[in-house]
Amino acid sequence: MALTASAEHQQALLDVQAIDTKLLQVAHRRKGIAEVAQAHDLEVQLGSIDMKIVAAITEISDLDLDRMKAESDVEQVVNRAQRDRERMDSGSVGAKDLSGLQSELESLAKRQTELEDVELEIMARLEDARAAHSQLVEQRVEIEAQLREVQGRRDEAINELDAQEAMFADERSQAVAVLPQDLVSLYDKIREDQGGVGAALLQHGECKGCHIALDTDELAHIRNAASDVVVRCEQCRRILIRTLESGL
Ligand SMILES: [Zn+2]
Repeated sequence: MALTASAEHQQALLDVQAIDTKLLQVAHRRKGIAEVAQAHDLEVQLGSIDMKIVAAITEISDLDLDRMKAESDVEQVVNRAQRDRERMDSGSVGAKDLSGLQSELESLAKRQTELEDVELEIMARLEDARAAHSQLVEQRVEIEAQLREVQGRRDEAINELDAQEAMFADERSQAVAVLPQDLVSLYDKIREDQGGVGAALLQHGECKGCHIALDTDELAHIRNAASDVVVRCEQCRRILIRTLESGL
Protein backbone atom coordinates (compact mmCIF):
# COMPACT_ATOMS: atom_id res chain seq x y z
CA MET A 1 0.00 0.00 0.00
CA ALA A 2 1.25 3.45 -0.94
CA LEU A 3 2.44 5.68 1.81
CA THR A 4 0.03 8.42 2.82
CA ALA A 5 0.61 11.84 4.36
CA SER A 6 -1.43 15.00 4.41
CA ALA A 7 -0.99 17.33 1.45
CA GLU A 8 0.34 19.92 3.88
CA HIS A 9 3.00 17.56 5.16
CA GLN A 10 3.93 16.57 1.62
CA GLN A 11 4.25 20.24 0.73
CA ALA A 12 6.46 20.79 3.76
CA LEU A 13 8.91 18.23 2.34
CA LEU A 14 9.91 20.89 -0.19
CA ASP A 15 11.00 23.16 2.66
CA VAL A 16 13.10 20.31 4.07
CA GLN A 17 14.46 19.73 0.58
CA ALA A 18 15.44 23.40 0.27
CA ILE A 19 17.35 23.17 3.56
CA ASP A 20 19.01 19.91 2.51
CA THR A 21 20.11 21.54 -0.73
CA LYS A 22 21.69 24.36 1.27
CA LEU A 23 23.44 21.78 3.48
CA LEU A 24 24.77 20.07 0.34
CA GLN A 25 26.07 23.41 -0.91
CA VAL A 26 27.84 23.98 2.40
CA ALA A 27 29.43 20.51 2.15
CA HIS A 28 30.44 21.26 -1.42
CA ARG A 29 31.98 24.60 -0.46
CA ARG A 30 33.82 22.88 2.39
CA LYS A 31 35.50 20.57 -0.13
CA GLY A 32 36.39 23.55 -2.28
CA ILE A 33 38.20 25.63 0.34
CA ALA A 34 41.37 26.54 -1.61
CA GLU A 35 43.28 27.30 1.60
CA VAL A 36 43.09 23.64 2.69
CA ALA A 37 45.22 22.55 -0.28
CA GLN A 38 47.40 25.66 -0.01
CA ALA A 39 48.10 25.01 3.68
CA HIS A 40 48.94 21.41 2.88
CA ASP A 41 51.41 22.46 0.16
CA LEU A 42 53.09 24.92 2.52
CA GLU A 43 53.34 22.26 5.22
CA VAL A 44 55.08 19.96 2.72
CA GLN A 45 57.46 22.80 1.77
CA LEU A 46 58.16 23.45 5.44
CA GLY A 47 58.94 19.76 6.02
CA SER A 48 61.36 19.74 3.10
CA ILE A 49 63.07 22.92 4.28
CA ASP A 50 63.40 21.50 7.79
CA MET A 51 65.22 18.51 6.34
CA LYS A 52 67.55 20.83 4.42
CA ILE A 53 68.19 22.85 7.59
CA VAL A 54 69.16 19.69 9.49
CA ALA A 55 71.52 18.73 6.63
CA ALA A 56 73.01 22.25 6.63
CA ILE A 57 73.59 22.16 10.40
CA THR A 58 75.29 18.77 10.07
CA GLU A 59 77.49 20.12 7.27
CA ILE A 60 78.44 23.17 9.35
CA SER A 61 79.36 21.03 12.34
CA ASP A 62 81.39 18.62 10.17
CA LEU A 63 83.23 21.53 8.53
CA ASP A 64 83.83 23.09 11.92
CA LEU A 65 85.52 19.87 13.07
CA ASP A 66 87.60 19.88 9.87
CA ARG A 67 88.54 23.50 10.52
CA MET A 68 89.68 22.71 14.09
CA LYS A 69 91.69 19.76 12.81
CA ALA A 70 93.31 21.96 10.11
CA GLU A 71 94.02 24.65 12.70
CA SER A 72 95.72 22.18 14.98
CA ASP A 73 97.74 20.76 12.03
CA VAL A 74 99.01 24.26 11.26
CA GLU A 75 99.73 24.88 14.94
CA GLN A 76 101.82 21.71 15.22
CA VAL A 77 103.96 22.73 12.24
CA VAL A 78 104.36 26.25 13.60
CA ASN A 79 105.40 24.88 17.03
CA ARG A 80 107.85 22.48 15.47
CA ALA A 81 109.44 25.30 13.45
CA GLN A 82 109.54 27.46 16.57
CA ARG A 83 111.42 24.74 18.46
CA ASP A 84 113.82 24.25 15.54
CA ARG A 85 114.56 27.97 15.44
CA GLU A 86 115.13 28.09 19.19
CA ARG A 87 117.64 25.23 18.90
CA MET A 88 119.43 27.02 16.05
CA ASP A 89 119.51 30.26 18.03
CA SER A 90 120.85 28.50 21.13
CA GLY A 91 124.24 28.15 19.44
CA SER A 92 124.67 24.64 20.86
CA VAL A 93 124.01 22.89 17.52
CA GLY A 94 126.84 21.56 15.40
CA ALA A 95 127.32 22.50 11.72
CA LYS A 96 125.90 19.19 10.48
CA ASP A 97 122.77 19.43 12.65
CA LEU A 98 122.39 23.05 11.68
CA SER A 99 122.10 22.21 8.03
CA GLY A 100 119.60 19.45 8.90
CA LEU A 101 117.51 21.91 10.91
CA GLN A 102 117.63 24.44 8.11
CA SER A 103 116.32 21.98 5.56
CA GLU A 104 113.62 20.86 8.04
CA LEU A 105 112.56 24.47 8.51
CA GLU A 106 112.25 24.85 4.76
CA SER A 107 110.04 21.80 4.43
CA LEU A 108 108.04 22.89 7.50
CA ALA A 109 107.44 26.28 5.89
CA LYS A 110 106.25 24.55 2.74
CA ARG A 111 104.04 22.23 4.78
CA GLN A 112 102.63 25.21 6.72
CA THR A 113 101.63 26.93 3.49
CA GLU A 114 99.90 23.77 2.27
CA LEU A 115 98.06 23.28 5.56
CA GLU A 116 97.03 26.94 5.67
CA ASP A 117 95.63 26.59 2.16
CA VAL A 118 93.61 23.59 3.35
CA GLU A 119 92.39 25.61 6.35
CA LEU A 120 91.43 28.55 4.14
CA GLU A 121 89.54 26.28 1.80
CA ILE A 122 87.64 24.73 4.71
CA MET A 123 86.85 28.20 6.09
CA ALA A 124 85.51 29.27 2.72
CA ARG A 125 83.30 26.18 2.57
CA LEU A 126 82.20 26.83 6.14
CA GLU A 127 81.25 30.38 5.22
CA ASP A 128 79.23 29.09 2.24
CA ALA A 129 77.51 26.50 4.41
CA ARG A 130 76.62 29.13 7.03
CA ALA A 131 75.26 31.44 4.34
CA ALA A 132 73.18 28.59 2.88
CA HIS A 133 71.88 27.80 6.36
CA SER A 134 70.88 31.42 6.99
CA GLN A 135 69.11 31.53 3.67
CA LEU A 136 67.16 28.37 4.52
CA VAL A 137 66.21 29.80 7.91
CA GLU A 138 64.98 32.98 6.21
CA GLN A 139 62.97 30.93 3.73
CA ARG A 140 61.50 28.95 6.59
CA VAL A 141 60.40 32.11 8.37
CA GLU A 142 58.78 33.32 5.15
CA ILE A 143 56.98 30.03 4.46
CA GLU A 144 55.86 29.74 8.05
CA ALA A 145 54.38 33.24 7.92
CA GLN A 146 52.56 32.33 4.70
CA LEU A 147 51.31 29.13 6.31
CA ARG A 148 49.96 30.99 9.37
CA GLU A 149 48.18 33.43 7.11
CA VAL A 150 46.67 30.67 4.93
CA GLN A 151 45.70 28.65 8.01
CA GLY A 152 43.98 31.73 9.40
CA ARG A 153 41.93 32.19 6.24
CA ARG A 154 41.23 28.45 6.07
CA ASP A 155 39.99 28.34 9.67
CA GLU A 156 37.87 31.42 9.08
CA ALA A 157 36.24 29.76 6.06
CA ILE A 158 35.71 26.53 8.01
CA ASN A 159 34.20 28.39 10.96
CA GLU A 160 31.85 30.24 8.68
CA LEU A 161 30.71 26.99 7.04
CA ASP A 162 30.39 25.33 10.46
CA ALA A 163 28.11 28.16 11.58
CA GLN A 164 26.00 27.91 8.42
CA GLU A 165 25.80 24.15 8.72
CA ALA A 166 24.73 24.35 12.36
CA MET A 167 22.07 26.92 11.46
CA PHE A 168 20.68 24.82 8.59
CA ALA A 169 20.84 21.63 10.67
CA ASP A 170 18.81 23.40 13.33
CA GLU A 171 16.28 24.60 10.74
CA ARG A 172 16.08 21.10 9.36
CA SER A 173 15.39 19.40 12.67
CA GLN A 174 12.63 21.90 13.36
CA ALA A 175 11.13 21.35 9.90
CA VAL A 176 11.34 17.57 10.19
CA ALA A 177 10.01 17.41 13.76
CA VAL A 178 6.44 18.20 12.65
CA LEU A 179 6.42 15.64 9.83
CA PRO A 180 5.42 11.95 10.06
CA GLN A 181 8.44 9.72 10.55
CA ASP A 182 7.62 7.31 7.69
CA LEU A 183 7.39 10.20 5.22
CA VAL A 184 10.75 11.59 6.34
CA SER A 185 12.36 8.14 6.21
CA LEU A 186 11.19 7.58 2.65
CA TYR A 187 12.32 11.04 1.64
CA ASP A 188 15.75 10.52 3.26
CA LYS A 189 16.21 7.14 1.59
CA ILE A 190 15.41 8.56 -1.88
CA ARG A 191 17.54 11.64 -1.23
CA GLU A 192 20.49 9.42 -0.42
CA ASP A 193 20.03 7.37 -3.59
CA GLN A 194 19.27 10.34 -5.84
CA GLY A 195 22.14 12.74 -5.33
CA GLY A 196 20.60 14.76 -2.54
CA VAL A 197 17.14 15.37 -3.96
CA GLY A 198 14.34 13.29 -2.44
CA ALA A 199 11.27 15.39 -3.19
CA ALA A 200 10.50 17.47 -6.25
CA LEU A 201 7.76 19.71 -7.48
CA LEU A 202 5.41 18.42 -10.16
CA GLN A 203 5.12 21.50 -12.32
CA HIS A 204 3.23 21.77 -15.62
CA GLY A 205 3.36 18.01 -15.99
CA GLU A 206 7.10 17.82 -15.47
CA CYS A 207 9.06 16.30 -12.60
CA LYS A 208 11.37 19.03 -11.35
CA GLY A 209 13.67 16.35 -9.94
CA CYS A 210 14.69 14.71 -13.22
CA HIS A 211 13.13 17.30 -15.56
CA ILE A 212 11.27 14.67 -17.55
CA ALA A 213 7.66 15.30 -18.60
CA LEU A 214 5.25 12.71 -17.29
CA ASP A 215 3.20 10.86 -19.89
CA THR A 216 -0.57 11.15 -19.96
CA ASP A 217 -1.12 7.80 -18.23
CA GLU A 218 1.12 8.78 -15.40
CA LEU A 219 -0.53 12.19 -15.08
CA ALA A 220 -3.98 10.56 -15.10
CA HIS A 221 -2.85 8.15 -12.41
CA ILE A 222 -1.64 11.01 -10.23
CA ARG A 223 -4.75 13.08 -10.94
CA ASN A 224 -6.89 10.19 -9.70
CA ALA A 225 -4.79 9.54 -6.62
CA ALA A 226 -6.17 10.88 -3.34
CA SER A 227 -4.41 14.02 -2.11
CA ASP A 228 -2.87 12.17 0.85
CA VAL A 229 -1.26 9.48 -1.33
CA VAL A 230 2.47 10.04 -1.65
CA VAL A 231 3.10 9.83 -5.40
CA ARG A 232 6.46 9.28 -7.01
CA CYS A 233 8.06 9.97 -10.35
CA GLU A 234 8.25 6.81 -12.45
CA GLN A 235 11.56 7.95 -13.94
CA CYS A 236 13.59 9.02 -10.90
CA ARG A 237 11.44 7.58 -8.07
CA ARG A 238 11.46 10.91 -6.25
CA ILE A 239 8.44 12.01 -4.25
CA LEU A 240 6.35 14.32 -6.43
CA ILE A 241 4.73 17.27 -4.71
CA ARG A 242 1.47 18.35 -6.26
CA THR A 243 0.42 21.99 -6.36
CA LEU A 244 -2.09 24.02 -8.34
CA GLU A 245 0.63 24.47 -10.95
CA SER A 246 1.14 20.76 -11.43
CA GLY A 247 -0.86 20.70 -14.64
CA LEU A 248 -3.18 17.94 -13.49
ZN1 LIG B 1 11.57 12.51 -11.83
